Amino acid sequence: MDYIKERKQIVEYGKQMITNHLTTGTGGNLSIYIPEKKIMLISPSGIDYYKTKLEDVVVMDLDGHVLEGKRKPSSEYELHSIFYKNKAGIHSVVHAHADFATAMSCLRINIPPLHYIMADIGDELRCTNYKIYGSPEIAKEAYRVMGDNKGILLANHGLLAIGSDIDSAMGIARNIELMCKLYTYASIVGKPVILSKEEMAAVTKKFQNYGQPKGE
Ligand code: 13P
Ligand code: ZN
Repeated sequence: MDYIKERKQIVEYGKQMITNHLTTGTGGNLSIYIPEKKIMLISPSGIDYYKTKLEDVVVMDLDGHVLEGKRKPSSEYELHSIFYKNKAGIHSVVHAHADFATAMSCLRINIPPLHYIMADIGDELRCTNYKIYGSPEIAKEAYRVMGDNKGILLANHGLLAIGSDIDSAMGIARNIELMCKLYTYASIVGKPVILSKEEMAAVTKKFQNYGQPKGE
């Protein structure tokens, strides 16, 4: 069996989807892209995250052919592969049905930058038009609405996050849920004050050297 490291990550981060309250049951899916081989490893369809074994992870090419694995791949494989095909530097996609994000996706609204952490996701958190799950249409719509951002809401469905690796895609997914939770709570009490384009641009710039110096 090849790609043990990536298989382990799909299994481990799948469990994190549950422990981080990003999804329930078998909702959501996750994948890792290996650019040198032009293949992706993706979670199997409809298998409990705590029951998923290394061999259940499916290896696919970006045209939807299964290269390795006995399981049926996630029904959303096109929602994942469209980003690997078209966006350099994106090596992981995470899709989940987190409570607040899914509630906001049912309102089909764009969440404005009410908190500086939005800069991690993009200029705002946009929501797609509704398309049925597991279809080429949802993949195309998600790609269109994503633009240069790292996360979106899928109408009446959930959230989608992309990143340079699975850890950053999962971080984006958590921040999407946080933004939706803050927007919900703040809107119950009043009208959230939205950060200006200039204030957001300043955060985006400052984020470039957030945390410890690179390489330490
Ligand atoms: P899969 O179990 O096929 O990945 O589907 C779950 C899902 O969230 C569909 O949108
Ligand atoms: Zn879904």
